[in-house]
Amino acid sequence: MSVAFQDFHAPYLELKDEFDSAYRRFMESGWFVLGKEVSSFEDEYASYCEAEYCVGVANGLDALHLALRAMDIGAGDEVIVPSNTYIATWLAVSQAGAIPVPVEPDMATYNLNPALIEQAVTPRTKAILAVNLYGQPCDYDALLAIVRKHGIRLAIDNAQAHGARYNGRRVGGIADIECHSFYPSKNLGAYGEAGAVTTNDPVLADRIRVLRNYGSRVRYHNEVPGYNSRLDELQAAFLRVKLRHLDEWNGRRDVIAQRYLSAIRSSSSDFSSPDSGCSSKIQNPKSNIILPFVPSWANPVWHLFVIRHVQRDALQKHLAEHGIQTIIHYPIPPHLSGAYSNPKSNIQHPTLRIAEQLANEVLSLPIGPHMKEDQATEVIAALSSFQAII
Ligand SMILES: *Cc1c(COP(=O)(O)O)cnc(C)c1O
Repeated sequence: MSVAFQDFHAPYLELKDEFDSAYRRFMESGWFVLGKEVSSFEDEYASYCEAEYCVGVANGLDALHLALRAMDIGAGDEVIVPSNTYIATWLAVSQAGAIPVPVEPDMATYNLNPALIEQAVTPRTKAILAVNLYGQPCDYDALLAIVRKHGIRLAIDNAQAHGARYNGRRVGGIADIECHSFYPSKNLGAYGEAGAVTTNDPVLADRIRVLRNYGSRVRYHNEVPGYNSRLDELQAAFLRVKLRHLDEWNGRRDVIAQRYLSAIRSSSSDFSSPDSGCSSKIQNPKSNIILPFVPSWANPVWHLFVIRHVQRDALQKHLAEHGIQTIIHYPIPPHLSGAYSNPKSNIQHPTLRIAEQLANEVLSLPIGPHMKEDQATEVIAALSSFQAII
């Protein structure tokens, strides 16, 4: 492949001295679990997110699961989730013993459509677990209005949008609780597994702190049945290095994204995009690439640059033939996956047409802080040669 989807080696090459000295500091400290690196990262990430508290945990799925447990969500409760997310969002709800209730996304932003939520709320609904999908914040104000009206909670799966802003405000400190994954491919990625929860609520922060460490705050005094889900000290040390560069690296993602947006939009009259959140102006739907739509209140961080095309599989094949690696996020919506399609999973699915359509049409182009300008040019050229042949 001449354009790889993501370059995992480049961050080390760029910051080798900083990573190496973090590693040495860790080795020489002789302290491996819940030490200074974790507590410093928690302080630094909370302040980055403009949130009061950050609690480091083992991974993003645990961040979601522990957040739900901390809000006392369990057996018999319902949690509203997007129909078009990575399955972890749903699995966290199931792990807590509750029922994920899918709601379809807005077709322009791919984030939860607030207008469809209220019809899914029942007396058992305890929370909305929204996702900042592909690096773009969901419509926080609309979601907060709904949770306040119904006296329920708003939790956010922020695995994909570290550093994004909603109306100028950083995500992470806006909802009741926000959950982050630092899986290596994320914008703030560790060199292994890591996650965190951020919140302004001291009670929730305290509960997560206890839950992640066997239900104890004092060793061998186990107040509640907890978990072992501690953020690793070495990963925290590496994350502290990357956090200092996150804004700059998100900025480089934005340069690539702007390049894609303007070049794909203008390279051919066949290209078009929803400029007002509506994609109905398509003249020739067969040859149309639908670009990401950014609402006025969003500053996305381009975790992924996701386009849509009705002949997605042919487009992906064409790009592969031109040496361009793409990925589909995600090919199977959770409700059609083996984990939830089994009648024993006890979940009643309404028709989730939008999630199914997106699964058939989305395609993620290469993007990242270490992608070179000429690689973006190659991607753009390969996209227009596809337009020419179909
Ligand atoms: C990556 C991701 C997760 C899970 O994170 P892990 O650290 O792999 O457990 C959850 N939700 C979304 C939307 C993700 O992209």
